[in-house]
Amino acid sequence: MKQSLILLAILTGFQVLPASAAETATTSNAPARPVYTLPALPYAYEALNPVIDTETMKIHHQKHHQAYVDQLNAAIAGTPAAALQLEALLAQVSKWPDAVRNNAGGHWNHGFFWASLVPPGQFKPPSGALKQAIDKDFGSFEAFQQAFEAAGKGQFGSGWVWLIQQPDGRLAISKTPNQDNPLMDTVASKGTPLLGWDVWEHAYYLKYQNRRADYLKAMWQIVNWPAVAARHKP
Ligand code: MN
Repeated sequence: MKQSLILLAILTGFQVLPASAAETATTSNAPARPVYTLPALPYAYEALNPVIDTETMKIHHQKHHQAYVDQLNAAIAGTPAAALQLEALLAQVSKWPDAVRNNAGGHWNHGFFWASLVPPGQFKPPSGALKQAIDKDFGSFEAFQQAFEAAGKGQFGSGWVWLIQQPDGRLAISKTPNQDNPLMDTVASKGTPLLGWDVWEHAYYLKYQNRRADYLKAMWQIVNWPAVAARHKP
């Protein structure tokens, strides 16, 4: 009885809608093809052990990053923001609602973060023009590391710590709250991000709990310095 009612409803639907109207209805009701999709990680979930544990990587990528992608698609759907390249959107993010700012930042920041890290067995220290620039602008690599860790520890609540190249070419450390980043027109310290570390608790809490300082210190073992150098303009 139930099955035949469903069948009747389906048949009635086909009968009352002419083919062209049915097509129009299908098109307008179908979700638009998402503008953004979750990028694959450039390494396995377990690859960053022992610095970042497998479970944290899975949740961070599959749940947190995926949520930023989904919420960004929802926030820009049907708006002119959907036609912009992501970095162009960030450069004028003040024109859009907070949901765009938070999720465009969340998506960009996480893609950048994954690409900034490397399994510890493949680690190479900074060298060449980037190393020289760090020495020149911070005094020494060790002084840079200290200042970077201090900025990460000093970010109250959730956010990011960045190594940026300023418009004048010099390197600087900055920090941003939430999912803001140095490409946004809303931030005080703008520049080209060279390195960015996630200091949200979701990035480290399973392994490090409240010990953000230990997480920051351990992260030096997995920085992808060749990737950072490729972003730097000597
Ligand atoms: Mn995160």
